[in-house]
Amino acid sequence: MPEIFRATPKTGRILKSAREKRTSPRARGYDPKWDRRSAAYRRANPFCAVCLEEDRLVAAAVVDHKFPVQDGGDVHCDDDGLWGLCLLHHGWKARLEDFARRTGQLDLIVRWCDEPETRPQLRGDIHHGPGPT
Ligand SMILES: [Zn+2]
Repeated sequence: MPEIFRATPKTGRILKSAREKRTSPRARGYDPKWDRRSAAYRRANPFCAVCLEEDRLVAAAVVDHKFPVQDGGDVHCDDDGLWGLCLLHHGWKARLEDFARRTGQLDLIVRWCDEPETRPQLRGDIHHGPGPT
């Protein structure tokens, strides 16, 4: 997402809007190389990996680092460290990361991504019932 800047008329000073106060993606290491890489990853892996586990084809909205970059994960990790997620599951993954941080289990998060049966159940988890037959 592009950064939003607003110039104040009096000083001409550039102010970031409130919602952009978080460190910019560039500052967090998401460089142009990552942009190309994530685009290529999504072309090769167009569907949400978690939805696929349930045989549901849902377009991936983001390429997610299984080990969070904000916790020291490598932006340029290999493909095994990435997965595509729909918006719903990106939100779920953020909650999984929060849980891992709070409980000191960040070292397990990649395993939770790779092995669904090892994942902790989070409050508010979405369980899809059987689809139409
Ligand atoms: Zn999904």
